[in-house]
Amino acid sequence: MPEGKIVKALSGFYYVQTEDSVFQCRGRGVFRKNKVNPLVGDYVEFEESNIGEGYIIDVKPRKNELIRPPIANIDQAIIVVSATQPGFSPSLLDRFLVLIESKHIDPIIFITKMDMVKQAEVEKINTYKANYQKIGYPVVSLSTKDSELLSEAQAYFKDKISVIAGQSGVGKSSLLNAINPTLSLETNEISESLGRGKHTTRHVELLDMNGGLVADTPGFSSLEFNDLELENLPDCFPEMRELKADCKFRGCMHNKEPKCAVKAAVDVNEIPSYRYEHYLQFFEEIQNRKPRY
Ligand code: GDP
Ligand code: ZN
Repeated sequence: MPEGKIVKALSGFYYVQTEDSVFQCRGRGVFRKNKVNPLVGDYVEFEESNIGEGYIIDVKPRKNELIRPPIANIDQAIIVVSATQPGFSPSLLDRFLVLIESKHIDPIIFITKMDMVKQAEVEKINTYKANYQKIGYPVVSLSTKDSELLSEAQAYFKDKISVIAGQSGVGKSSLLNAINPTLSLETNEISESLGRGKHTTRHVELLDMNGGLVADTPGFSSLEFNDLELENLPDCFPEMRELKADCKFRGCMHNKEPKCAVKAAVDVNEIPSYRYEHYLQFFEEIQNRKPRY
């Protein structure tokens, strides 16, 4: 039975990529009854019915999935933040990091528009960069105008399924276009001149990116912690995850508890205070969330 990866879903068809070809497939009736909806990113078994066509018969177990965009088996989320225009926001970055960690997806941080920052600002950005690297996150500073930095960024896409996340205008589309010039994704200046929103397409497609695949729609557009339980929040901060065994109380929430290793690390600047402040803000936000019905 041939196997492949769904790289595109459109009008009831799933486009399944094998080593040397793409098959236009439908889901089997049987399989719809099982309520498994095939997703882009799924590894599937299919039956060839015609040249280049087939029926999906089985979906392999997923390692994770997102609802928006609907994609399975994501290897990593690339958070794009810009050094300027819009200005670098550690608070927004931490929010994206928590959302991504909560879905058990590995984050990578790209800082764009480095060609536009003043020298004095570069130092500030580098300090942040070092903070996140210390936590263990890969961080790349780049510019669409610098081919050396671009090739460093490009390497991260190889052999992976990636989603891109980040505020509008930070340079997500420009970056993908710069890495894969055959794409010509709409960037902000173009969509503004046409006077319409950018993300009008409803289908999802995985695009070729340096031997890997990247979703054509940015993920994590909702920045609310709707699916995140308070008790899981501390584990969305890797530096806290690492210290929790040293807290006096098991299940310490690093908030009001005494003898907390995380708070001690903040006191000696081992953990930057702004990271901890964001933790407390998110804590409160989740605690005060209205119950859902
Ligand atoms: P998106 O909304 O995140 O997809 O952002 P876009 O890719 O549409 O970029 C927004 C604006 O920033 C556009 O005018 C781009 O030309 C510009 N831009 C993106 N990356 C860079 C960069 O590295 N350097 C400079 N100077 N401008 C950039
Ligand atoms: Zn603690």
